[in-house]
Amino acid sequence: MTAPVATVPIAKPVMGQPEADAAQRVILSGWITQGPEVAAFESEFAEFVGATHATAVSNCTTALHLALLGVGVTSGDEVITVSHSYIATANAVTYCGATPVFVDVDRDTKNIDSALVEAAITERTAAILCVHQVGLPCDLSSLAAIARRHGLPLVEDAACAIGSEIRWDGDWQRIGRPHGDVACFSFHPRKVMSTGDGGMLTTDDAELDARFKLLRQHGMSVNDRARHTSSSIIFEEHAVIGFNYRMTDIQAAVGREQLKRMAGIVARRREIAATYDTAFQEVEGIEPPFEPEWARTNYQSYIVRIPDGVEQRDFMQRLLDDGVSSRRGIMNAHREAPYRGVHDLPVSEWAQDRHVVLPLYPAMTDDEIERVIATVSLTARTPGAVAG
Ligand SMILES: *Cc1c(COP(=O)(O)O)cnc(C)c1O
Repeated sequence: MTAPVATVPIAKPVMGQPEADAAQRVILSGWITQGPEVAAFESEFAEFVGATHATAVSNCTTALHLALLGVGVTSGDEVITVSHSYIATANAVTYCGATPVFVDVDRDTKNIDSALVEAAITERTAAILCVHQVGLPCDLSSLAAIARRHGLPLVEDAACAIGSEIRWDGDWQRIGRPHGDVACFSFHPRKVMSTGDGGMLTTDDAELDARFKLLRQHGMSVNDRARHTSSSIIFEEHAVIGFNYRMTDIQAAVGREQLKRMAGIVARRREIAATYDTAFQEVEGIEPPFEPEWARTNYQSYIVRIPDGVEQRDFMQRLLDDGVSSRRGIMNAHREAPYRGVHDLPVSEWAQDRHVVLPLYPAMTDDEIERVIATVSLTARTPGAVAG
């Protein structure tokens, strides 16, 4: 018997000796949380995305919470967003005591359908929270125009979109300048770069940035670094109720190493996606992901539409039987218990049910890429044959 071939995983973070050394350096330094490494990570991240300010936090969910509070979302408000996203997007709205108002997504991009946004605005609307789902930039220019016209803040859930680009004023710009008022990023291991867990808010508004820094640490008026470096005694105050949403210096040091790899990571992800695109164009029933000419995604996930008439679960089981992991399409919050109710979101439901996420990570070997292509192609061509 030959040894079984290892299953191709859905994702694998890019981590190595530089990240391990960075973590060790911090652990031995005597300053472990929200210190000099966090400050350096913030300025390097801001420079990477082209923003003037960045605030590091514990994850993207807490970043979204602070972003919404920062732009003034409060109890009883409504926030226009998508159901077709990780549930954290809707939960951040709920944390503010506000209600998420779900708008359907576009069939091609699976991002918020900007043509449906204005009809969802009411006198209670306090913000628009758009999502760059799986790294593909949403239609920011239309959304920014709508937000401006109605005097609403625009918050970008850019959890997946580190290193993605959008054409803006004739240039390619990274997501996160931001193009709305605030952008929020995630460093969870399923995202394109990771600090274990972690998040970042970017903005060009100094006042908003100061508010994020106040709220992430219990509303404390003076941060630890200022007290530590002061030659005179400083007493801090707590003028508002804040949170403990800090990032540790260990995470920040890892993040600084990950940032150095970003250009290479995104280039490699796009290269693998291009190989998939070419292969799947030949396979009837498999539709590769769509990229508008004004966007360059980082392919945080590579999602294909599966052939009509084949059950999603069966399709995925066939892949797994052949040693290829997959995941179902992006979820819809309105199908989960906290957000069930009357919703008319047919495209969001189709996107979840008729799509499958395929493995894509920079360390993929040519052999692994070929195995995914071969298995998906065979399953699409012979959809009926489900083992067991
Ligand atoms: C992953 C993700 C989040 C949550 O990020 P965490 O860092 O895990 O809190 C929020 N929104 C979207 C769209 C995501 O994909």
